[in-house]
Amino acid sequence: MPVINSIADQKDEIAAWRQDLHKNPQTKYEEIFAGDLIAAKLDEWGVTYKRGMAETGIVATIEGQKTDSGKTIGLRADMDALDIQEKTGLPYASQNNGKMHACGHDGHMASLLGATKYLSENKNFNGKVHLIFQPGEEGGNGAHKMIAEGLFDEFPCDYVFGIHNWPKEPAGTIVMRAGPMMASVDEFKIEIIGKGGHAAIPETAIDPVIIASQIVTALQTIVSRNVNPIDTAVISVTSLNAGTEAFNIIPDTATLRGTVRTFNNDSRRMIKDRIETLCENIAQAFGATVDFNYGFETDATVNTADGVEIAANAATVVVGTENVDTNYSPTMAGEDFGAFLVEVPGAFVFVGQGNPDDPHGHNSTELHNPNYDFNDDVIPIGASYFAALAETYMPLEE
Ligand SMILES: [Zn+2]
Ligand SMILES: [Zn+2]
Repeated sequence: MPVINSIADQKDEIAAWRQDLHKNPQTKYEEIFAGDLIAAKLDEWGVTYKRGMAETGIVATIEGQKTDSGKTIGLRADMDALDIQEKTGLPYASQNNGKMHACGHDGHMASLLGATKYLSENKNFNGKVHLIFQPGEEGGNGAHKMIAEGLFDEFPCDYVFGIHNWPKEPAGTIVMRAGPMMASVDEFKIEIIGKGGHAAIPETAIDPVIIASQIVTALQTIVSRNVNPIDTAVISVTSLNAGTEAFNIIPDTATLRGTVRTFNNDSRRMIKDRIETLCENIAQAFGATVDFNYGFETDATVNTADGVEIAANAATVVVGTENVDTNYSPTMAGEDFGAFLVEVPGAFVFVGQGNPDDPHGHNSTELHNPNYDFNDDVIPIGASYFAALAETYMPLEE
């Protein structure tokens, strides 16, 4: 496989950093161990960087042998772990109780560090690379926070690229698509304020349970009746809470919670408005009021066509045309890399990491599972892909 030889030669060393990161997982905005490890490597290689962006984030910069192309790209890895108790039993399993790198961000950091080392030694490109180590991907809006703190003002990029390991696809593949790749992730909380009373005297009460039930049913008409059938969206009510254990009391309030997923920011805003309208009007029709909370959490990850072209070129150099899919199916899962793509063109790709010979092994286990583990065999691919992005988009010889 034509991964970059000098990176492949250092696979064991890079895997050791990865396992060290795996052993010491920390969740959003507490990624101190990872930050220290990354900063120590950058110091060792003489790479300049800024630490403390979005609290625990780091942005390093490498200039090529030439910079007169004026081109710049951003390469991003996420840093945080999850609140999961690891069950892999691996020798380098998490030492932090209840915390685990179950999404493979340890592997993303190691891959980007491998590329950083290679690029800082070879500088085999004409332009500038910003290496973005982002905290708080898992529900922390870390990408938004970095942008709000001026990421792209201080480190402007023509394009930005990210990877996610993908257990469903075999190691040795890189898959992507232009347009929506991953869904937006929003959440809502709706409190229906009625009037409690005796279950046998309902005429004196305003029953929030009945109203909540009507709202749950009505919300399911938004996708079927308001969203363009060509678009994809999901609305799930995941929690309905009201009352106590009592069978004879009508409660004062009922609370609904749920999530909305879309691939399209226009649908996303329309859905939020429809949920609010339905809730308020249904509640009003029954004499109740609502307290409506809607959080726009993670943007849809929408790759630009030119970003995918650059990504596909780099991926092809590393794994060969036959192992690159540029028309991969999107997933309804979310990823906060989408926030970068709202600001700057680019692409987010999945790097296959599954092992078809061992479908029940850690590397083929789904993300966010206590038995999952990042596949170290994929490190040379991820690192070479990142390096190839710099070398193919900003070649020394045009
Ligand atoms: Zn995750
Ligand atoms: Zn992840």
